[in-house]
Amino acid sequence: SIGFINGQFIEINQAVIPIEERGHQFGDGVYEFVKVYNSVPFLLEEHINRLEKSAAGIDIKLPYSLGEIKAIVIESIKKSGLKDAEVYFQATRGIAPRNHAFPDVSSSFTLTVKPSRKVPKQSYEEGIDTILLEDERWGRCHIKSLNLLPNILAKHQAAKGGNFEAILVKDGYVTEGTSSNVFVVKNGVLYTTPLTSNILAGITREAILKLAESANVVSIEKKFTPEFLSEADEAFISSTSVEILPIRAVNQQLIGNGKPGETTKTLHNLLCKLRDGSFAS
Ligand code: PLP
Repeated sequence: SIGFINGQFIEINQAVIPIEERGHQFGDGVYEFVKVYNSVPFLLEEHINRLEKSAAGIDIKLPYSLGEIKAIVIESIKKSGLKDAEVYFQATRGIAPRNHAFPDVSSSFTLTVKPSRKVPKQSYEEGIDTILLEDERWGRCHIKSLNLLPNILAKHQAAKGGNFEAILVKDGYVTEGTSSNVFVVKNGVLYTTPLTSNILAGITREAILKLAESANVVSIEKKFTPEFLSEADEAFISSTSVEILPIRAVNQQLIGNGKPGETTKTLHNLLCKLRDGSFAS
């Protein structure tokens, strides 16, 4: 594992954040999470572009150009010596005496590279259990903000009951998971929540929609209710860390026959091929 802060490589848990760093005190920043397979960061440019959008969404000017961030990520992976890794990076509004109003200081950029955590194989084979919870987040969920309290609390509530993920519901419609997007398959058609400020534009979500098109799976971006989800033939969550993970049950009610569905498996295979193609040759 390795850390990077404002131009320097450090040991990952070295004490380097001043108390009055705004990410630390206010959660005043944005982040990205990228997986590295066989030394290659998957869909890195997409993640860096989203970081820029998130930063712009809260008026943070990144301290580096997108090209510089790309170079830092690649150098950090090299320095870590890891082949299968996860890279986390964040930009915050910087260090200034605590005051809500924006300070006139430059932003901070930190990054870690750590060994990849693996989702148990069994979760892919059997699917995961989920619960439905009220979406208590703010109105700008398209920004990948450091403020994750509602996500953390919902995830904890799910985990307490032995569930892998909480699926959030706002005004009667499914938005997304606490750290994932949600997909449903019904009569061979793929459904997912449309991009609005209610959800994060998942990089994996986007890749899946393209793969679906390439496999002639019709996809529809449309709001759907928890009932529609419960009555689906198949359902899955997607994210950088889990890729595609079949949903076995929602609130203890099985989806379909409770087994990962064919469309889900097809899309996951295609995603794995895309990933493996990214470092082949
Ligand atoms: N939605 C939320 C709230 C997330 O935190 C994440 C990722 O952590 C996702 C969706 C999935 O996004 P991605 O596929 O870019 O990892």
